[in-house]
Amino acid sequence: MRKSHFKRTLCLLFCLILAISSVACTSQPKVTDGESVAMFKAGTYVGTANAHNGEIKVEVTVDEEAIKEIKILEHNESPGISDPAIERIPQAIIDDQSLAVDTISGATVTSAAIISAVTNALEQADADIDALKVKKEGEETARDTVEETTDVVVIGGGGAGLAAAVSAHQNGAEVILIEKMPRLGGNTILSGGAYNAVDPKRQEAQGIEDSIEKHYTQTYEGGDKLGNTELIKVLVENAYPAIEWLEDLGMKFDDELFTVLGGMWPRAHKPSTPLGTGFIDTYSKYIEENDGIEIILDTEATELMVEDGKVVGVKAKGLKNDMILHANKGVVIATGGFSKNIDMVEENNKDWPSLKDAKSTNHPGATGDGIILAEAVGANFVGMENLQLLPMGDPDTGSLSGNIELSVENRIFVNKDGDRFVDEGERRDVMTKALLEQEDAYMWVVLDHKNYPTPETVNNFNETIEELIEQGRAFKGDTLEELAEKINVDPAKLVKSVEEFNKAVETGGPDAFGRTLFDKKIDTAPFYAGPRIPTVHHTMGGIEINTNAQVVGKDGNIIPGLYAAGEVTGGIHGSNRLGGNALADITVFGRIAGENVAKEK
Ligand code: ADP
Repeated sequence: MRKSHFKRTLCLLFCLILAISSVACTSQPKVTDGESVAMFKAGTYVGTANAHNGEIKVEVTVDEEAIKEIKILEHNESPGISDPAIERIPQAIIDDQSLAVDTISGATVTSAAIISAVTNALEQADADIDALKVKKEGEETARDTVEETTDVVVIGGGGAGLAAAVSAHQNGAEVILIEKMPRLGGNTILSGGAYNAVDPKRQEAQGIEDSIEKHYTQTYEGGDKLGNTELIKVLVENAYPAIEWLEDLGMKFDDELFTVLGGMWPRAHKPSTPLGTGFIDTYSKYIEENDGIEIILDTEATELMVEDGKVVGVKAKGLKNDMILHANKGVVIATGGFSKNIDMVEENNKDWPSLKDAKSTNHPGATGDGIILAEAVGANFVGMENLQLLPMGDPDTGSLSGNIELSVENRIFVNKDGDRFVDEGERRDVMTKALLEQEDAYMWVVLDHKNYPTPETVNNFNETIEELIEQGRAFKGDTLEELAEKINVDPAKLVKSVEEFNKAVETGGPDAFGRTLFDKKIDTAPFYAGPRIPTVHHTMGGIEINTNAQVVGKDGNIIPGLYAAGEVTGGIHGSNRLGGNALADITVFGRIAGENVAKEK
């Protein structure tokens, strides 16, 4: 297997210090009147700049002629997402001896922050910053076309694509997976990790009653009965076997299940590692340990190749080469959703106010490429108008990170007045619509100490509450009144909201909003609050598939050689996806797509 393109971009315990030594060319010192003048005041300097999640601190060592070493001392950027910038930007600055290096797509904010922090350090070294910011004329290099042949080409390296690649390989196929970003993971790695499955072992231990039928009904009715019943059946019946499959691959899940936002029932499994990293690390480990799956990063599929009505390969564009990838058995489209393609979102938006300026939880690669690729070969699309917004976006970035809730039962939402306004155990669309009616469409998640019993307790995005408080993304009060002052809501109203909630916990509800999901009261100091806004999260519509994950054409027949899985597909979740069903969906159908494409002749 050729693994030269494969870069393991994820590390769970992501390094705080990355040291890169200068092995590269050095800049020429300035020459004035025949005498050489130092480029830098030799020494080691610390520079800082603000990134996504707070400050990045770098240490830069220079001699009189060159930037010798850059260490990232501290950062709070998201694991997985920021890794390519942290790995590549310091090295690029050293290699080019320049601050005019390209940012990394998908990690532009982190890239820019590293460049700013290095600039800040170099200013202290008396560097000529303007000169270092001049873009060097690159030598034009001709683009080669690389041609490869394999059994299966998978487009997209998120949860669905990786599941398909591993499953196809387990079923005897050789696979090439192309990913347009510089890292694997897509939106999957950014998710809170919640995975719904009726679990005989764990649910019984917790005394939770559940059944496949209940999961089916909640999924079907939660999507206003618009989902394809056959696909829903496959999803709910295979969700738990897919967990066992992941466990066989080495993935670990916590024993305790929980109710995720809009999940309606405590059947969400939480991976034992942060966010969605567990899925990506598990597949990556399999790929590293087994020959036969080649991962090519920074490579975007641009066209499906068709011969005699069968999809036989993919044309793609890499950083340096164009690629023609022949697939003897078939192609799996697993390119994710289109929440980051504003034109596509607006074109399909029928139920929400204009989303032109809306923020999104998604990574920048979620641009609906798979829709365009599939459209060109006659695929049919279903439910494109079904767009999911969450009431849980970070007010600055729209991302899910910073969300302080740990499970639905133990927190309330209040608006800017301090009043509750919705059943916080409701469907995601219901909660988001209610939030849109509040002042500035802005709310606070309020909960108490019991959610964060130790300083080490982290939210579903691997953040401690104190960390969020330090970053100004959460607030703490020893009393509800003190918390209310800090978040600028009416203390009397906040106290009343919590008191009424606590009464409902005693009776078990339903309360005035119809809420029935309760566990513990909000009664133990300190109390915490975090701000949230509506954010575009998931595009439920997409390519029509059958229960074998084969793509269905506009004429109702399958398109030979073409499979699709994950968020790029439509028709499973109807108008509203149950929280926790996406990771189950991408794993179940990714696995099915891989198995079936491997069996093609
Ligand atoms: P899913 O949950 O369905 O797996 P993800 O968002 O996790 O979706 O992953 C989809 C992946 O597909 C992302 O990593 C994204 O960058 C990648 N992708 C999107 N379009 C292309 C393309 N044209 N070529 C290659 N990879 C793509």
